Amino acid sequence: MELSVVWDGQKIPVQIIYSGRRRSWAIEVKTTGEVFIRVPSSVPEQKVMEIAQSKAKWIAKQQEKFQVRAAEPRRYENGNMIPFFGDDLIIERRAGPARAEISGGRLCLSVPDSFVPDEAEKLVRDMVMLLYRRAGPSVLDPFVEKYAGLAGVQKPLLRMRLQERKWGSCTPKNGIIINAKVLLAPKPVAEYLVVHEIAHLRFRHHQKTYWDEVERLMPEYRESERMIKEDGWRWVF
Ligand SMILES: [Zn+2]
Repeated sequence: MELSVVWDGQKIPVQIIYSGRRRSWAIEVKTTGEVFIRVPSSVPEQKVMEIAQSKAKWIAKQQEKFQVRAAEPRRYENGNMIPFFGDDLIIERRAGPARAEISGGRLCLSVPDSFVPDEAEKLVRDMVMLLYRRAGPSVLDPFVEKYAGLAGVQKPLLRMRLQERKWGSCTPKNGIIINAKVLLAPKPVAEYLVVHEIAHLRFRHHQKTYWDEVERLMPEYRESERMIKEDGWRWVF
């Protein structure tokens, strides 16, 4: 049976996740709108749903926030700014053969005149995404080098990908994959994602031993975690 809470006449589906090790409650609303209620396994379902219902207003608000926030596309107009690995680049856009390049604090974009506006916007966005993906491995290389050394693992091969919701992952063969969107985030976030995946090369789970290792590698990692949760929606191409 699907569980749900009701707010403003609308049913909001929720999922309960029981854990034997848990002592406290947590309600989490994902950017996808999914709602997870994490509770100790000793709590009866009816009680869980009573408390969830008492938080229905908060849950609805969180969902609304993510929906509103997901909707603003970036505008690649002359003079606008775009972040790149902690710096702000000024966008310089002109007519010309399709090209995107970073040079001297500027993101230089040229788009053929023959493109209709919709096509031109799509081309610009695609070019910028490709540029960031290609730039990623060399920009992040010092972090990969540093933290592989600290973690005592062989330096992994870093690849950049573009993913809707996933920030990173690691492969069975000593590779790590990081979302190119992270170059739109502050530097410590990019650093943390490298740390997060490198720590997974030894601990392929999210248990306490894993988080202890993350903390050892980057003691201030929680601040970056918080930024991803609160501001991650802003970092879009
Ligand atoms: Zn992880």
